[in-house]
Amino acid sequence: MKNAIGVVSAILITGCGLAAAQTVPDAVSVSAEIKRVVIVRLKYDADLLDGIQQAVKNEKVKNAVILSGVGSVKSYHVHAVNNTTLPAKLAYTQRDGPMDLIAVNGYVLDGRIHAHVTITDDQKAFGGHLHEGTKVFTFAIVTLGVLDDNLDLSRFDDSSWR
Ligand SMILES: [Zn+2]
Repeated sequence: MKNAIGVVSAILITGCGLAAAQTVPDAVSVSAEIKRVVIVRLKYDADLLDGIQQAVKNEKVKNAVILSGVGSVKSYHVHAVNNTTLPAKLAYTQRDGPMDLIAVNGYVLDGRIHAHVTITDDQKAFGGHLHEGTKVFTFAIVTLGVLDDNLDLSRFDDSSWR
């Protein structure tokens, strides 16, 4: 009899879990104002992601939107999704060579950088999710629009929140 009760409880708990998961709406939104703008300048050979992370720490940024980014790089390391069923599989790309950084965008979510970059050589543009190993060539400038610390954006890039 104890075993039977155990099974029923397990089904109820699982059932509640599913019900909770189904309450996540297709679109979640928050309203916020940009409190200040932080402009970050990175020099030759700096790591782009590390540099942004360092600036976020120095400027005590918890939440932000990455508004802009330009410059050039001598290497890059990014990933892109490589399938269409969750969990996502990631394909990583690394390359050395002269390339212009033509866009940086993304977010700072609870102090964590989630940045995407667009890079070009003299033939074509490419890009993806920024990883360590993207090294600045001439310079890089990245602009952050700092948002309220009280916002909870921590799950906005969590693919399991569905
Ligand atoms: Zn990403």
